[in-house]
Amino acid sequence: MHLAKDEPPKAGPGRAERIELRARSDVWKKPPRHIEASECITCDSCLRSCPPEFGAIFDRGLDVVIIPELCSGCPVCVMICPVDCIYVDEEWTPTDSEMWNHVQLTAAPTA
Ligand code: SF4
Ligand code: SF4
Repeated sequence: MHLAKDEPPKAGPGRAERIELRARSDVWKKPPRHIEASECITCDSCLRSCPPEFGAIFDRGLDVVIIPELCSGCPVCVMICPVDCIYVDEEWTPTDSEMWNHVQLTAAPTA
């Protein structure tokens, strides 16, 4: 699996590698976070606040979602969300390939 050839490395090699491997970092101790769509007002504040070295939040259709494999659980977004709808996701589900394709397509211009 190859990344876009013109992908800039600004978000850090760690993130690029996680995207390529579609896997979380082994050193992250905290579980990822999850946005409860039924409570989210799609203000995009979290998307803008997620540190670029993680870059874990994306628009998916009308929803805003966290890619658990990219989320360190830091938890900047939790502190910024105006409606407190971002929860710890101990039993997170691996991201599907359709979403990974979207992540890989958007990683280059936003990195
Ligand atoms: S917990 Fe941190 S890394 Fe995870 S989505 Fe929120 S801001 Fe990004
Ligand atoms: S900050 Fe909260 S309400 Fe706004 S898009 Fe993110 S999860 Fe949804």
